[in-house]
Amino acid sequence: MSQEHITKILSGKGLAAKIRQNLKYQIAKSKIQPGLAVILVGQDPASEMYVRFKSQASNEVGMYLETIELPEDVREKKLLKIIEKLNKNKKIHGILVQLPLPAHIDVPLILETIDPMKDVDGFNPENVGWLSAGAPEFIPATTRGIWSLVQSTNITVAGKYVVMVGASNIVGKPTAQMFLNHEATVTVCHKKTKDLAGFTKKADILISATGVPHLIKAHMVKPGAMVIDVGTARLNGKTVGDVDFDQVKEKASYITPVPGGVGPMTVASLLQNTWDAMCLIEDIEN
Ligand code: NAD
Repeated sequence: MSQEHITKILSGKGLAAKIRQNLKYQIAKSKIQPGLAVILVGQDPASEMYVRFKSQASNEVGMYLETIELPEDVREKKLLKIIEKLNKNKKIHGILVQLPLPAHIDVPLILETIDPMKDVDGFNPENVGWLSAGAPEFIPATTRGIWSLVQSTNITVAGKYVVMVGASNIVGKPTAQMFLNHEATVTVCHKKTKDLAGFTKKADILISATGVPHLIKAHMVKPGAMVIDVGTARLNGKTVGDVDFDQVKEKASYITPVPGGVGPMTVASLLQNTWDAMCLIEDIEN
């Protein structure tokens, strides 16, 4: 049998739909409606699109949603005040500030201001710390989504060699930390890594989050590896990932498509985090 026949496409779309269905059911039964506030600064088309996906999904599951749109030149003080108000707002259990923010805004200060109990993106330094300590309260949505996808295959992560390509605070670092917490052997690569392929071709689980279209070619992948593609970019008018899907699917045991892989899982995981925040704040058994 050729490798093509045994490669499984890991559909985030399908798993995310199941997660949303489950949340919808839980919310319908719940006495308290979970509430999410999404803050969008400026008019970056990609950010606007992500916020739209998040809004649609939270509406679908029956969450209360507040979308706060602010101009590109909003003063930092005003943004801080809005967050402080949301921290006290009883209807809101999760607060998300869509990144990136304009250059005049101090991002760490913004993230630090979000109440750690409402920090559904998991970027407040307190929550980053808890993830590093192996006892996370909130796992950043993309990392949680990747983790759920990997778990859905029933493979054992402990002892596997995981290569994380991309070292951002949003995706690469928390994802690497999550796999380390589960006893994988983890290497993190980034744009200054020498001989990237030397690492990737040894990986049992290869995760790429760079935004460089088709960075990962077949010769960089170990036969039978699981390949998780987080990247999204436009190439020749199409949305593509970091992985050269058509080549790599011939070699991988599992591979996520772009679109329809990690993207929908990120959104579904954000909703799960908001549900978890509601249970935490309202002291409800989860
Ligand atoms: P980022 O720009 O903050 O970080 C990119 C990382 O990739 C950096 O660590 C950089 O050193 C590394 N990198 C860049 N070029 C490289 C190369 N040639 N070789 C090796 N490493 C390289 O980006 P980010 O916010 O982490 O996002 C990464 C990608 O993932 C983007 O395409 C983004 O759109 C996508 N993303 C997708 C989701 C989703 O839900 N699907 C969520 C978040 C981000």
